[in-house]
Amino acid sequence: MMADAAIETIRDVVCGFCGLGCDDLSVEVEGREIRAKGTVCPEAARLLRRLDVADRPASLGGTAAGLDEAVEAARTILSTARAPLIGGLGTDMAGAGALVDLAIRFGGVLDHYASEGLFRNYAAAQRTGWLSTTLAEVRNRCDVLLVVGEDPTVNWGRLFERFFPETPLFAGKDRKVVFLGGAPGEKAKGQLGHAEVSHIPTGDPVAVLEALSVLVEGRTPPGSSFGGVPVAEVAGLAEALRAAHYAVVTWNAGASTDGDLIAERSTALVDALNVTTRAGVFPLGGRDNIIGVNQLMLWRIGYPLRTAIRGQQSAHDGTLYATDAALADADVLVWVSAFRPEPPPAFTGKIIALAHPETVFDKEPDVLIPVGTPGVDHAGTVFRMDSIVSLPLGALRVATLPSVAEAVRRIAEG
Ligand code: SF4
Repeated sequence: MMADAAIETIRDVVCGFCGLGCDDLSVEVEGREIRAKGTVCPEAARLLRRLDVADRPASLGGTAAGLDEAVEAARTILSTARAPLIGGLGTDMAGAGALVDLAIRFGGVLDHYASEGLFRNYAAAQRTGWLSTTLAEVRNRCDVLLVVGEDPTVNWGRLFERFFPETPLFAGKDRKVVFLGGAPGEKAKGQLGHAEVSHIPTGDPVAVLEALSVLVEGRTPPGSSFGGVPVAEVAGLAEALRAAHYAVVTWNAGASTDGDLIAERSTALVDALNVTTRAGVFPLGGRDNIIGVNQLMLWRIGYPLRTAIRGQQSAHDGTLYATDAALADADVLVWVSAFRPEPPPAFTGKIIALAHPETVFDKEPDVLIPVGTPGVDHAGTVFRMDSIVSLPLGALRVATLPSVAEAVRRIAEG
């Protein structure tokens, strides 16, 4: 990073919020205040913003308490817990490691609050495998991009700026982007000004993807339209994909209850394309370091998210240990959200929250320990959505709140 004087401008800031891993942000830091500078995505501007206000104190049932007192109360609750759920898991790699240690010590189910899309994608990958690509490959080689579902810039504000830069290394000038489902919004169109953008509206992208695979294989699907799209239009898209040097299909499995089917049919389409050309899938995801937390669990215990640790045993079940299902059996919820003020789900048992200080709770948690944000209050590491790159986040100001890793270690080590 390079720093100016006075109101300090910090450049080349890495952003850890949505998983896209933009590393070119500029922020102004004035005392304890932080604000994004220049044009950045609204998500980053909102989540980086900090005012010069006193830290929210730790609390017990809504009554202010010292940090030591809150740590002690959390340890007491966990010591007598029958079935804790350690959820949210919006944290950096150090925090994730400490939370796995916490589960090993007290037992518990581990799940990330945004894991639904990840497991819909896993369902497809487990059935058939997939040929996935990376952000760098999309940027530099992809010449036909098929975007399935709604415009993803709602969740990944700079996606197409990162996907399709004006000067790719290897792809030619004639780059095409086809939106299959929702129409591209103004933001997407603005970022894709140098590409040929088209839109095929449909409420049933799964049906269109199925027909596309058949057409790419050189066969004729029965019917005159698919998902409301005339066969001639589907055939035109199949031909564009077959003619591509490097086609990529991308989707957000978390946005649709059909996410697992979209993942499976997109994977099948890419398999069919790879018989004659080169193609890959790029599933979208990665919010609040879900990819990194999932990787860490695989390294540490050999199972992904949605795993229960009890005694010396671990067991994974993608349905039983999903947050909603696990809450039905849990008596304690440890809720972790350091990147954003994401509130915990409704729960009648005891709640220990290691939370962003601006979190608004329906019911004050039994124990609240406000924590700092990685990449704002303290340094940390997160993973990019394509699992390829780990991103070093720097501190923008002196931390006055503990990190998740520090808070969890204090609870576990007493
Ligand atoms: S698109 Fe994502 S990574 Fe990039 S600036 Fe916005 S929130 Fe950060």
